[in-house]
Amino acid sequence: MRILDPHIHMTSRTTDDYEAMYAAGVRAVVEPAFWLGQPRTGVGSFVDYFDALIGWERFRAAQFGIRHHATIGLNPKEANDPRCREVLEVIPRYLAKEGVVAVGELGYDAMTREEDEVFAAQLAMAVTAELPALVHTPHRDKLAGTRRTLDVVRDAGMTPDRVLVDHLNETTVALVRDAGAWAGFSIYPDTKMDEVRMVAILREYGLERMIVNSAADWGRSDPLKTWRTGMTMLEAGFTADEVDQVLWRNPVAFFGSTLVLDPVPGFVAGAAPVPAEFAGSSVLRGVRA
Ligand SMILES: [Zn+2]
Repeated sequence: MRILDPHIHMTSRTTDDYEAMYAAGVRAVVEPAFWLGQPRTGVGSFVDYFDALIGWERFRAAQFGIRHHATIGLNPKEANDPRCREVLEVIPRYLAKEGVVAVGELGYDAMTREEDEVFAAQLAMAVTAELPALVHTPHRDKLAGTRRTLDVVRDAGMTPDRVLVDHLNETTVALVRDAGAWAGFSIYPDTKMDEVRMVAILREYGLERMIVNSAADWGRSDPLKTWRTGMTMLEAGFTADEVDQVLWRNPVAFFGSTLVLDPVPGFVAGAAPVPAEFAGSSVLRGVRA
């Protein structure tokens, strides 16, 4: 099984996770910029975070045989904090950097006027940078939030096939598919969506424009949920080629040519990482005696 996890926050995961992901078939990931679990106090905090996503984390993933990409954006939660607004001025410069494959994650949290402004401004940046957009749907009032999301995308002049609407469930999937956008599903241990419900949705709606992710982060989550979904698909009678479409070819088609997908040179599965450094730091701790 080859897997591209198109939504996973690896900065909050361990090297054990990277090893387990590689062993399960994960060869590439996309890490969306998001919040820290607590408020940031200013633009410098974003700059360091964005630099780490496209620098250290990209290097760290490659040490474990996994190609790392990022999406850059001001997340909906922090769109409401005036201290964070200034980041909108630095985002366009990051959209041109290597390893950045989309604008995101964008969208609504509490559906405020501030969120409207920040969302529209960043969709405009995506259009200018000719990048797709990763849009998250709110945890509360999901249906209304998803409907409004699709309206804003339309108003921004972005074609729906350049937008991945994420964290969907049984109540929102039809709306997104009818709009012509890509449908994303986050498979969590006990909330949002699980792999059995996911397989039922795939059976009902088909595999086209369907994308599955683990959305693993610093919360209770599982970086192998993409693989578990693939296994559940196989048990339910889907073919290996159909699993490959959902877990690899679909996200590859959505993000497009900015992805780097060739194997990491010199990487050997199960062996200690090839000694290498990024800005003077290594993933190895000390030297072997
Ligand atoms: Zn996320």
